[in-house]
Amino acid sequence: MAAILGGGLGGLSTGYYLLKNNLNSNNNLKLYLLEATNYCGGWIKSIRTKDYVFEQGPRTIRPKGVTGLNTLNMIQDLGLSEHITPIKPDHPAARNRMIYVNNNLYLLPSSLKGVFQKNEPFSKPLIYALYHDLKKPHKQLKDDSIYNFVERRFGKEIADYAISPMICGICAGDAKEISVKFLMKTLFEWEQTHGGVVKGLMKSLFSSKTGNELVLSDLARKAQEEKWSVYTIKGGLEMFPNKLQAHLKDNNVTMNLSTKVEAIEFVDSGSVSLNIQTGEKLSVNHVYSSIPAYCLASLVQKQHPELAKTLKDIPFVTVGIVNLYFATQKPLIKPAFGFLVPPIENSPILGVVFDSCCMPDQNGTVLTVMLGGRWFEEKFGKNTTSENLYNIAVKEVGSILDIKDKPTAFNVNILNRCIPQYVVGHYERVDEIRQYIKSNNLPISLIGSSYDGAN
Ligand SMILES: Cc1cc2nc3c(=O)[nH]c(=O)nc-3n(C[C@H](O)[C@H](O)[C@H](O)COP(=O)(O)OP(=O)(O)OC[C@H]3O[C@@H](n4cnc5c(N)ncnc54)[C@H](O)[C@@H]3O)c2cc1C
Repeated sequence: MAAILGGGLGGLSTGYYLLKNNLNSNNNLKLYLLEATNYCGGWIKSIRTKDYVFEQGPRTIRPKGVTGLNTLNMIQDLGLSEHITPIKPDHPAARNRMIYVNNNLYLLPSSLKGVFQKNEPFSKPLIYALYHDLKKPHKQLKDDSIYNFVERRFGKEIADYAISPMICGICAGDAKEISVKFLMKTLFEWEQTHGGVVKGLMKSLFSSKTGNELVLSDLARKAQEEKWSVYTIKGGLEMFPNKLQAHLKDNNVTMNLSTKVEAIEFVDSGSVSLNIQTGEKLSVNHVYSSIPAYCLASLVQKQHPELAKTLKDIPFVTVGIVNLYFATQKPLIKPAFGFLVPPIENSPILGVVFDSCCMPDQNGTVLTVMLGGRWFEEKFGKNTTSENLYNIAVKEVGSILDIKDKPTAFNVNILNRCIPQYVVGHYERVDEIRQYIKSNNLPISLIGSSYDGAN
């Protein structure tokens, strides 16, 4: 018997893969999934109407790498292929990504030609950044912040205007704190091993590549062949966890919603007792925890305070999400993915996604404004309201995109401690957590975005 804690995408996918392995190995593993709320999907929540879709959390999925391809295999297996809307390289949402600097929107270069041209706000063509990397000596380090790394290798403008806003888009975080070893592992290794990123890239082009053992579904193969940038799900991303939930239920996983686990007790005999809020207990042989690290910390605090402390050291940030719908015939925005604001601009917003360009079937202009992140409390205090965030979002969108219309519909959400921050030393911290579990023979596996990344 095993229990999965948390019914977000991490917990649901764990159930999917455990069922698959179970089937392959002819085991008869009894599975329970315990979710605190009455909803499965975690941060993935879509509001669907006949005119628009508001995504309150994630909206696009990356198809690249082993994780991306595995996800596409799973999506095909769940029968969701026909709902996938890819964003291919020639789509405006793939080509047009902007940054907002000094009261202006600037397109980031998206072609090789663009790298040789001077693109504001950069003072020189980006090719100079590669020259900078070639001549700069390398520094032997265990880890570093992404900002320091990029400034050292490519110069301050690239760190301020290209990488810092990108980190806001990925994890609503500060590039000056996020670990390069974690988020840009290959580039960091190239610097450490070969003395620079360009030198590492050249060496990798001439070294023999190890074959990808992954068996690709038709959908994953199509994504590779057509070089999808990202993809969305028609009708809302929520369809993905809904399908996974139904799949687990159909395969006899006991789905316990509104079931908050309050403590985990590891018993000497090797079993684990889960104390549930209602006063009930569930005894299993193994636990797969997909809940945020700080939630797990409070469950193991009593028996394993040392483990709890390290788990609590993984910081999380709060993000405000304001979805706006304008029922206009003519689009109010130019076709693009949206724009991000570099932290150096000191703006209350992190960026805006142009959903009506990225997602199909939207009758009008749909935008999502992201606010706060690493700077949430600093900008809005401890007790901000949805109304305050809405007013700020509408004001910023009005002045940056020159939109004078009042939104026809909107939705505001404050997502408390929703995104883990992979700060410098994250690798070692997660290693320490897993070493503790191993050396104490604890029958628990750690899954989810707290440890190994967002996707
Ligand atoms: C605003 C935002 C935008 C994002 N955009 C993207 C994007 O575009 N693309 C992308 O790939 N990723 C994106 N992400 C990241 C992505 O959403 C997450 O990586 C992913 O959803 C995390 O899933 P999870 O299962 O690890 O955690 P969660 O979604 O946090 O799920 C954890 C679950 O555990 C439950 N739980 C907590 N405590 C307990 C307890 N004690 N007992 C039982 N259950 C408990 C919670 O209720 C929750 O349902 C975004 C995230 C946010 C917040």
